[in-house]
Amino acid sequence: MEYITNYPLGELKERFKDLGLEPYRAKQVFRWIYKKFITDFARMTDLSKEYRKLLSENFRFHPLKKLDRVEAPDAIKYLFKTVDSHIVETVLIKERNHYTLCVSSQIGCAVGCTFCATALDGLKRNLTTAEIIDQYIQVQQDLDEGKIRNVVFMGMGEPLANYENVKKVVKIMISSEGLDLSKRRITISTSGIISQLNRMAQDEVMREVNLAVSLNAVSQKAREELMPLTKTNTLKELMEVLKSFPLPKYRRITLEYVLIKGVNDSVKDAEKLAKLIGQHKRRFKVNLIPFNPDPNLPYERPSLTDIMNFQRVLWKHGISNFVRFSKGIEVFGACGQLRTKRLKLEIEGAVK
Ligand code: SAH
Ligand code: SF4
Repeated sequence: MEYITNYPLGELKERFKDLGLEPYRAKQVFRWIYKKFITDFARMTDLSKEYRKLLSENFRFHPLKKLDRVEAPDAIKYLFKTVDSHIVETVLIKERNHYTLCVSSQIGCAVGCTFCATALDGLKRNLTTAEIIDQYIQVQQDLDEGKIRNVVFMGMGEPLANYENVKKVVKIMISSEGLDLSKRRITISTSGIISQLNRMAQDEVMREVNLAVSLNAVSQKAREELMPLTKTNTLKELMEVLKSFPLPKYRRITLEYVLIKGVNDSVKDAEKLAKLIGQHKRRFKVNLIPFNPDPNLPYERPSLTDIMNFQRVLWKHGISNFVRFSKGIEVFGACGQLRTKRLKLEIEGAVK
């Protein structure tokens, strides 16, 4: 038995063919799932009873089990469990008039950033296409009204290290028969794996979605200290790749910068950041993310004054930038944090 949400439409047609099912029916099933969020073959009423039975003998729906749901004023955090008992987290952010979903692409992460809770227990494994898509489906099913319009790959894991599956997810998301999301409303956030960025640049599907790159430091040395994997994916190479990345018209690359007290938050750092961007002000915008403290991480958040001083330098150089304060983030902490808490509880035997 396999998960039907593992396949973009073209592949699902092929699977149907292999199984002796009529391939054109794939489109019908696809629409039930991604337009109506019906994940029960019995309810797909325009298919014959016999056909529904055949489908249910071959496919199933949810690879994730919903464990928990924590509400904050402007966000809901969902905890899921995989079949092999890993925890996956997903955050729904309520914007003024729409929803944004922050999805996870891996269990853990191999990049090992010293400020990130996801990194604490290394990489366990990639999530499958169905496990990533199921985060969207289950959260959408949980909502009374309104469709999730924006998706950011900013949960647990490094999406470009799980390229094939992330690409399939993107295909399902942008397909007019699928979730039909705009490419501009999907953002892939990466720590900057050069080979995968080059691959993305050549890829007609992937290069059209939004690209956010976690810079986090302005010198090779400082960056290596915060993000160990950048020893081989150097700042110099990264900036070169980004400066020539084939962007759609009017599109910018977001440079994410986690501001950590006394580590990378000085006015001098801001000046260096402006210098890195140099003449390419229209290609980049900067997203400043005040560090979210965690008892397991050895850093602190800068003061509001320091954050504003950093911003002021960027403005002075004409660099677009923004700081996002979220009540939800205040409650939950950053990506991965609730998960580590729960894992601890499990170890202590407090949660079944
Ligand atoms: N692996 C990808 C996407 C997931 S992390 C990446 O690194 O881009 C998403 C964002 O959360 C990254 O920009 C990362 O720098 C940021 N982040 C991680 N831990 C954080 C923390 N404790 N406080 C604030 N931001 C954090
Ligand atoms: Fe991985 Fe991103 Fe966390 Fe770094 S910040 S460890 S790349 S999830």
